[in-house]
Amino acid sequence: MSDDSSADSAQRYEKTAAFAWTERAFELLESGRLRAEIRQPRPGVLASHVWGRCPRCGHDIDDWQPLSAVTGLTGSRQPGSTTRDTTDVEPVDINCGCGTVHSGAPADITGCGVSFRVELEPVPEGAAPERE
Ligand SMILES: [Zn+2]
Ligand SMILES: [Zn+2]
Repeated sequence: MSDDSSADSAQRYEKTAAFAWTERAFELLESGRLRAEIRQPRPGVLASHVWGRCPRCGHDIDDWQPLSAVTGLTGSRQPGSTTRDTTDVEPVDINCGCGTVHSGAPADITGCGVSFRVELEPVPEGAAPERE
């Protein structure tokens, strides 16, 4: 018997973007079970890397997404953004990509269907992030 509860692995597929999963993802990030970093695979190219536990089904996910609206690009401000207070963080929407076929999922669809938002903080060059 494993000490890691497997109750969550029986989650049925459900397409959901409920904010509760974003909150859960934040808790997992705080506890280190989910990790998120901005990487630079090539000079001038930034990508988000989010890996660890899916906040809904608990399976491992490994998500890479190119970031196009970060530094180095001008004139690409998104017209839909409402505030400019969060320009220091890069919100990335993650879809569960655990690779497991959950019951109730459409054909050829893996993952539990959840999508959630992770905010990545670019690490300033030569500066350690401060925590309160
Ligand atoms: Zn899963
Ligand atoms: Zn999942």
